[in-house]
Amino acid sequence: MENFTFHNPVKVLFGKNQIAQINQEIPKDKRVLIVYGGGSVVKTGVLQRVKDALENEVVFEFGGVEANPHYETLMRAVEIVKSEKIDFLLAVGGGSVIDGTKFIAAAAMYEGDTWEIVKSYGSVVKAALPIGCVLTIAATGSEMNNVSVVTKAETKDKLFFGSPFVLPKFSVLEPEITFTLPQNQTANGVVDAFIHILEQYVTYPVNAKIPDRFAEALLKTLKEEGPKALVTPDDYDARANIMWSATMALNGILATGTPADWATHMIGQEITGLYGLDHAQTLAIVLPALWKFCKADKSAKLAQYAANVWDIPSAEEDVMADKAIEITVDFFESMGLKTHLADYGLGEEIIPHVVEKLRAHGHVNIGEKQKITAESAAEILKLAL
Ligand code: NAP
Ligand code: FE
Repeated sequence: MENFTFHNPVKVLFGKNQIAQINQEIPKDKRVLIVYGGGSVVKTGVLQRVKDALENEVVFEFGGVEANPHYETLMRAVEIVKSEKIDFLLAVGGGSVIDGTKFIAAAAMYEGDTWEIVKSYGSVVKAALPIGCVLTIAATGSEMNNVSVVTKAETKDKLFFGSPFVLPKFSVLEPEITFTLPQNQTANGVVDAFIHILEQYVTYPVNAKIPDRFAEALLKTLKEEGPKALVTPDDYDARANIMWSATMALNGILATGTPADWATHMIGQEITGLYGLDHAQTLAIVLPALWKFCKADKSAKLAQYAANVWDIPSAEEDVMADKAIEITVDFFESMGLKTHLADYGLGEEIIPHVVEKLRAHGHVNIGEKQKITAESAAEILKLAL
């Protein structure tokens, strides 16, 4: 087991009718900017419920944060924060809105070129406005972590940053809010969370039993409950189990004492930045190919995953590893996510562009052993054609 520091002070308000409590979480008389996305929260009535709960605060709104939030859009919100002297940000939405709000919170208090926040991976952030979240899709875990992913639309650069200053003060998780998700977004969320777990679990063994067994519990829950939510969108227990799994998948618990891969996210991020595929779609394409490419390094954990998550009868490690890859692909496809670039009309021509972005972003020597170079990324993408 490796050394680790674990610190996660995010307060979670989970269950039914939790929005009513948010006025107790935001100090009185704050000037609050509600940040939301393309309008789903207007249609579903969630935005109105939030406004009704904020009776003691002066409330402003900023809508229109797009999926894979744009730096350019977020900078317009920063202007409002400054001109209206906002002192609390409330994200009402999914990972895109929450990530965008984290950026706004840091950028509003940063003197200088705000793209530096992202370029420096967050190291220049020394302060941020306080943030609360009302989560509307179970997927990223952003509601309980300090990471944000922002895209500069002008240059198609999609990059992440992290800072303890942008950790939410609280997050409301009402599973019922996710009943209205379209099927493809439910599936995207389950697959994104599933892959967050796999990127921290399928590496190499370090005998860290706690995160391994947590990972296996979360993976089993998502593979059982994910398909139920597709068939019965208003199955409360399925939605609740998915929601808590997705949050637990990326709140730091699974990173306690274990190595982490994250190369699938690094490569996938470039594909979304350049070609606009959904985040989870890119991951479902890259992960199986990356596992094939790195099978020798990962076979012990792949075999453990096959046995403990999918109940594959014991066999030689290599055979188990192959079965693990096969069954994972079947799971993604059964959730409606395609696993090849060709399924999205993309071919070999994209490889040099993705590799160029990885190089430009310094995302070479990635993966748990820092062995995945730009050249290996090209090989992985060939396996994903
Ligand atoms: P999202 O981009 O926030 O939302 C996806 C879509 O779902 C939007 O069109 C949204 O519509 C809709 N939607 C959300 N909630 C809904 C509801 N309850 N009912 C109906 N429609 C709803 O999805 P996401 O997967 O959570 O976030 C993806 C982003 O997070 C990507 O940029 C990814 O790179 C990033 N990410 C961050 C982390 C992290 O740790 N911070 C980890 C992984 C990925 P509206 O816009 O109209 O609301
Ligand atoms: Fe993700």
